[in-house]
Amino acid sequence: MQLAKDMYIFMGGTFDPVHQGHIQGALQASALFDNNEVHLLPAKIPVHKNAPTTSVEQRIAMLQLVVDKTAKLQLDLREINRADQSYTIDTLKQLRRELGATTPLVMVIGMDSFMSLPQWRDSQQFLDYCHILVLQRPPYIDLNEAYKQGEPEVEQHQVFFAQRIFDAQKLSSAAGGCLYFYQQPPIAISASEIRQQIKNKKHSYLLPVAVAIYINQHHLYQ
Ligand code: ATP
Repeated sequence: MQLAKDMYIFMGGTFDPVHQGHIQGALQASALFDNNEVHLLPAKIPVHKNAPTTSVEQRIAMLQLVVDKTAKLQLDLREINRADQSYTIDTLKQLRRELGATTPLVMVIGMDSFMSLPQWRDSQQFLDYCHILVLQRPPYIDLNEAYKQGEPEVEQHQVFFAQRIFDAQKLSSAAGGCLYFYQQPPIAISASEIRQQIKNKKHSYLLPVAVAIYINQHHLYQ
């Protein structure tokens, strides 16, 4: 299949549940690229995390509520529809085949995901297929300083830092190969915190209203 796109931007994740951190982060990425669409790409079986407590259908239903109401956000169900486990490298190869060799492909991840990237399968090859755009996310904000100081937590990131760029324009002019740290205002929200709030019977303002209503109606995370 050939996807007719100027560029393809996606954010993978468990989305258990989808929250304002995902939505605002994706919209900030969209704004950086002339309001291009950003695809939320849920993982069926997250490889790097504990299994979600909700079903695939429930996670998709919550994402659907969000994309239905948010211009510029789309849903990409390719990992859900795949028979086997969701490895990012397979998704990147598939997207690259569909987009052709020259269309820019941007993978948006939060700083916590970037920290664990060396442990992802074949992640040293990711930049052969796409750009990586890292969203600031507390508590990891100034990674560059950590890298310059030779902190052990980022010493396995050389292959990524070697490709670091400071001008976001390059992400839309090349097919892939660049690492970019986006200095957007960080949003301190996580799905685990939201699940805990719901368990403690607290209303979470970190959720879109439609998602909060869905969670309530289906008694999720209780
Ligand atoms: P959990 O708390 O269960 O670990 P999460 O909030 O990190 O979940 P995921 O679905 O695992 O949610 O995240 C998908 C992607 O979105 C990841 O790359 C993650 O780093 C990023 N992300 C999630 N929340 C934020 C946020 N508040 N700011 C920036 N990036 C975020």
